[in-house]
Amino acid sequence: MSPRSASPIIVQKFGGSSVADAEKIKNVARIIVNTHDQGFRTVAVISAMGDSTDDLVDLAAALSPNPSGREYDALLATGEMISVAAMAMAINAMGYKAVGMNGQQAGVHTEDLHNRARILEIKTEAIENALNEGYIVLVTGFQGINSKGDITTLGRGGSDTSAVALTGALNAERCDIYTDVRGVYSTDPRVVPEAIKIDQISYIEMMELARVGAQVLHPRAVELARQGNIKLCKRSTFELEDCGTMMIGEVATDSNNGVTGIACDNSQARLAMIGCPDNPGVAAEIFGSLAHENISVDMIIQSLGRREGTNDIAFTINSVDIHDATRVLEAVKAKIGADNIAIDKEIAKVSIVGAGMIDRPGIAADMFDALAEACINIKMISTSEIKISCLVEKDQGHDAVRSIHKKFFPHAHTQQGVLLNEKVGY
Ligand code: ADP
Ligand code: ASP
Ligand code: MG
Repeated sequence: MSPRSASPIIVQKFGGSSVADAEKIKNVARIIVNTHDQGFRTVAVISAMGDSTDDLVDLAAALSPNPSGREYDALLATGEMISVAAMAMAINAMGYKAVGMNGQQAGVHTEDLHNRARILEIKTEAIENALNEGYIVLVTGFQGINSKGDITTLGRGGSDTSAVALTGALNAERCDIYTDVRGVYSTDPRVVPEAIKIDQISYIEMMELARVGAQVLHPRAVELARQGNIKLCKRSTFELEDCGTMMIGEVATDSNNGVTGIACDNSQARLAMIGCPDNPGVAAEIFGSLAHENISVDMIIQSLGRREGTNDIAFTINSVDIHDATRVLEAVKAKIGADNIAIDKEIAKVSIVGAGMIDRPGIAADMFDALAEACINIKMISTSEIKISCLVEKDQGHDAVRSIHKKFFPHAHTQQGVLLNEKVGY
């Protein structure tokens, strides 16, 4: 047994903005090497440089309206392969041993599904062998291979999930997710500069915030961390003195009227099956067919149709599924004899999340009040024990978030709050 094999493992993940150019790659290389120098066996998961995954998405869209999932994933996965090879070079140039591994080399096995595959298992032998030989191991985020040996991707933002899954599989000490902000805030600090940094957040609230569109962590990453009781921290690549935000098991006692965070999701689309016959089994047909194609549905509303004896059934899905969902719905429309299908892509879903919400009846009214004050119309509403979501016009999403933030975090918008934030920065 090598002496290294007894030392604890740390998994780090660096997002696209942390590795956007050569200088930033060298900065991250220093952070990784520093961890290695502290005696940890170090695994770093790296995302694609800057916005390069967006560029690959645009390239695919320019070439085909509906590319095959296999080729789409193969294209998108190249971004992470570039950054891992580049990071290995930067670390080697500093005189350290680093080895880069793609999803296949790192043993990341996923479902057969493309675009949003889940990790099924990580065969860690190759990583562990390299660690025990003294290497720093760099792994591509966001990708794995399926049972056919084809490349799969885990859904946008999925490198977070790669890192947490590796932390579990390697039985590592903890997982540090480095990004361009100091941690998790009460809302996106780029939309609301007065947003407040949260030092500790429960897995359950973070999971819900991630699910309703707070881009700051991938939902599946938080889910895996919660299941595996994994120590997960979100922190800044550029301000290392800040300890970031730690996920914790228990719900922190809240002081903001039960609301912990606010999120805006611009990636949803609203579909409606207009003029469905008012018969038993119609909703089952629509949502059963979508489920059969693995298309998740979020908010649902059924209302009386214009023609007597009909209903309109409206619901939201992720925009990436529009093409598949329309195909499925065309078949259902013919089968049930509905009138037509309406598609609205110009929507934003604004949500508030907080474990303390359930005991406070006025929270929904306060949220609607904040939207009314900003003259924003609500198109759909959905609630759960710890979340309320409202669908609004896409171009009003950010105004909605600002108005709601002011309602639930008024102290942050006072002059004193703004000054404090300026001092802390993000
Ligand atoms: P990375 O490239 O590091 O994965 P992301 O862009 O995926 O970074 O996530 C970080 C970004 O998430 C921040 O720059 C910030 O604008 C955004 N964000 C959205 N909601 C929040 C929130 N509640 N707290 C912190 N950041 C948030
Ligand atoms: N590069 C991928 C994306 O931009 C995965 C990630 O960064 O987490 O979605
Ligand atoms: Mg991300």
